[in-house]
Amino acid sequence: MSGDHASAPVAARVRHVEALLEARGLLDPGEIDARIEAFLAGGSPAQGARVVARAWTDPGFAARLLVDANAALRELGLSMAGGLQEQRLKVVANGPDEHHVVVCTLCSCYPIALLGPSPGWYKSEAYRSRVVRDPRGVLREFGLDLPATTSITVWDASAESRYLVLPRRPDGTDGLAEAELAGLVTRKGLIGTAAV
Ligand code: FE
Repeated sequence: MSGDHASAPVAARVRHVEALLEARGLLDPGEIDARIEAFLAGGSPAQGARVVARAWTDPGFAARLLVDANAALRELGLSMAGGLQEQRLKVVANGPDEHHVVVCTLCSCYPIALLGPSPGWYKSEAYRSRVVRDPRGVLREFGLDLPATTSITVWDASAESRYLVLPRRPDGTDGLAEAELAGLVTRKGLIGTAAV
């Protein structure tokens, strides 16, 4: 098991509990690793991009996605379960005068089952503390300079609720196929620190 120095004692304790469970026949050796691998292997920003591209091209899907994202994901064969207990996902849509951005102020909650591991800056103290106080300033540092007339909503993720931003479809993309549209969507766009 890998980890930094701070997490080493925790890792040792976890390994100890694993060994006890295995010794008592309650856990097959390697079962936890296999579950975690399945959990991480399922997630990728490309999956989020697929969801966005489908929403851009299918208004019915977009409507269902905003009402019940977990159910809509299943239409694409995706899920927030990742082999473990399913987490609740809420999709928030950017509009002409509104922008959404996601943070976890407490730690680093993120839709890992869908998007894979979060970027380093998402977990940083600087982002977590500052984006709540000054979202417009933080977004400007990311290169996203929103007009003063655009309202910004910051969503604080938690163990129970994860968020995904539905960016606005860029102008001039009418002729693009769904897969090409998906190629325009970035991880930052799905978190809200980029326009797309
Ligand atoms: Fe968290």
